[in-house]
Amino acid sequence: MKVIGIESTAHTFGIGVIDEKFNVLADERTHYTPKEGIIPLEASQFHEKNASGLLKKIEDKINLKEINLIGLSSGPGLPPCLYHGLKFAKELSKRLGKPLIGVNHCQAHIEIGKILTKLKSPVTLYVSGGNTQIIYENKGYKILGETQDIGIGNAIDKLGRTAGLSFPAGPKIEKIAGKGKFVMLPYSVKGMDLNFSGILSESIRRLEKGESKENIFYSFQEVCFAMLTEITERAIAATEKKELLLVGGVAQNNRLQEMLRIMCKDRGAKFDVVPKEFAGDNGTMIAMTALVNYKSKKLGEIEIKSNWRVDNI
Ligand code: AMP
Ligand code: MG
Repeated sequence: MKVIGIESTAHTFGIGVIDEKFNVLADERTHYTPKEGIIPLEASQFHEKNASGLLKKIEDKINLKEINLIGLSSGPGLPPCLYHGLKFAKELSKRLGKPLIGVNHCQAHIEIGKILTKLKSPVTLYVSGGNTQIIYENKGYKILGETQDIGIGNAIDKLGRTAGLSFPAGPKIEKIAGKGKFVMLPYSVKGMDLNFSGILSESIRRLEKGESKENIFYSFQEVCFAMLTEITERAIAATEKKELLLVGGVAQNNRLQEMLRIMCKDRGAKFDVVPKEFAGDNGTMIAMTALVNYKSKKLGEIEIKSNWRVDNI
């Protein structure tokens, strides 16, 4: 059995192919990288322009006639990007004569993390551009805490933009932060939820006043990641889970990994991170989740849902 997955919810247009044992057979991606923030219509036009070229790259490795199932990331995401993904996936389904199923993008980040790390029943910290959530499974996915405003990745990218760093700013900020010293910035945890817009505007204000970007980046990471570690520790304590999984694009950050690793060691919990190449958005995670859901007969309807929450699958 071979499954193809299509990802097009935001910046990334990605296609991945796996076999029935979840081995990755092909994975191709392109990234829309705007100078300013993401413009949804522009992003979808970027996807449209690159989709067939990307599929050709996949066809160099895979005979599409061998595909049995097609998965599409059908939400949450930016409506124009989701619409284009749906159109592309429907055409492919018609061309191959194979079924198409809708997959929740957040579930896909969790499932690829579980499959590749082999963690069985983790609490998951999901940190990406648009999303920041702490999730565990108990008759479905339950969200224990989340951002009340913007995702941590978007906050990092906006901060980077102020300092002239292009998207994705995360890796560049991480590098510059290595030379910084700590200055106090607003810490905002409300119960199990978080806010990033306060610390973001304060950091931007201080950068614009001429404060050292090394210090601001370092402190921004320290404070935001401490906030994430605090709610994650509380989630592990409350659920009595013994495993923590870190997924999403921001999972690549070494300092965030370090803080979580120390916290888990103190609590006797196992900690693991989705492999770097599958941390950001990709088609492979959609293929894997389509197969997981297909095996458990949880077949999502094929309609796009821009606000589809993982606790509402
Ligand atoms: P995703 O939305 O899952 O594709 O993840 C993209 C986000 O991950 C962007 O906001 C990036 O800035 C962020 N990101 C990537 N690498 C790092 C890193 N090393 N540190 C922090 N954020 C990162
Ligand atoms: Mg994502």
